[in-house]
Formats: sequence, structure tokens, C-alpha cells
Amino acid sequence: MDEVMLDGNAVAGLLQELFAVEMTTAIGTCGACGSAGPVGAGHVYRGAGIVLRCPHCGNVLGKIVTNGSRVWLDFQGIRTLEVAA
Ligand SMILES: [Zn+2]
Repeated sequence: MDEVMLDGNAVAGLLQELFAVEMTTAIGTCGACGSAGPVGAGHVYRGAGIVLRCPHCGNVLGKIVTNGSRVWLDFQGIRTLEVAA
């Protein structure tokens, strides 16, 4: 660690604030086709976990898996996520 690099705990308050917003109205940009739109407009598939796909190209935007006590989030298919400040 140095003056410009900190661990994730340094942004705990910011992360808590950002993820406490209504995520279905957050604007996500697809990492594959570049389309932007509300997360709530994505196509959701349920199985062993939840898969959120781009409504334009079918790219996997995100995956959510839970075992009842822990949740794993993978949003590597979203290029950017825009939320109201
Ligand atoms: Zn797409």
C-alpha cells in the first residue's frame, strides 16, 4: 500500500451508498453490443442461479448465485453501470 493505492475498505461507505440504490433503474451498458438501458429491461433466466442477459444481443450481463447465506455477483458482461448520485 502507498499514498495512492488503498484496499477496498477505503471505499466501503461509497460502495454501500451506491449499491443501496434501486438497481432496476440503473443504466447498464452491454459489454458486447454497447446498448444502454435500464437493468430492469434485461432478460432474466432462472436455474441454479440467476442470469441477466442483454435484451438486444443476448450477452450475459450478470450472474447471481446464492446458497441462502452468501451471494455471489458477476457483472463482467456490463461495461458500465450508471446510478443516480
Ligand atoms: Zn448487448
